Amino acid sequence: MKVIGMLGGMSWESTASYYAALNEGVKQRLGGLHSAKIVLYSVDFSEIETLQHRGDWDATAELLAEGAQAIERAGAEFLVICTNTMHKVAPAIQDAIGIPLLHIADATAEALMRDGIRRVGLLGTRFTMEQPFYRERLETHGIDVVVPDEEARAAIHEVIYSELCLGVIRQGSKQRFLKIMEYLRTEGAEAVILGCTEIALLVQQTDTDIPVYDTTAIHAERAVTYALEKA
Ligand code: GLU
Repeated sequence: MKVIGMLGGMSWESTASYYAALNEGVKQRLGGLHSAKIVLYSVDFSEIETLQHRGDWDATAELLAEGAQAIERAGAEFLVICTNTMHKVAPAIQDAIGIPLLHIADATAEALMRDGIRRVGLLGTRFTMEQPFYRERLETHGIDVVVPDEEARAAIHEVIYSELCLGVIRQGSKQRFLKIMEYLRTEGAEAVILGCTEIALLVQQTDTDIPVYDTTAIHAERAVTYALEKA
């Protein structure tokens, strides 16, 4: 089994979900007392969030590259960045290390393609919904992406940073998300990507008949498969 490197803390609420999913995944496949071999580097999210909203992505890349190098030195054999948004600087992080990085959007696109989904709604931070780094990565797999309107994007962004990343779950926010997902369906989305690793804390598949693709679960599952593949 390969040692999984987790670059987490963005926020720690979803890193906890990743940690559980990685261990559950290994337990499910190998049984008994088996669990995942993991090196975790968890950042102070406040530092990252301040730089994100200042638009200083180079500084975020530097901080995260340092974390990724520490993970590599500690013996991890590949890396997962436990957030969609910070894949904006995934190329810089990959350049700073010698181990492979499993990209969250590739894992998600592969899951969508397997299910024959070609047009998908995307929920996430403003950065993820509005900037090209994520959408274009999905598009290279032949997937067409629809995002909510400006007002809805602002509301989702606010809920992510002011509620979900703080572990706050509100029924009103859940209803708002479900409405936005209905809107995406009217725009032709066959499924919706929960493209922020905390959204599954608020909305699950049992809340809606629109197929949802939880990036945390998909990314963790992909990491388990990779960790258990014969080298
Ligand atoms: N975890 C979130 C994501 O998947 C948002 C927090 C962040 O900005 O990293 O995008």
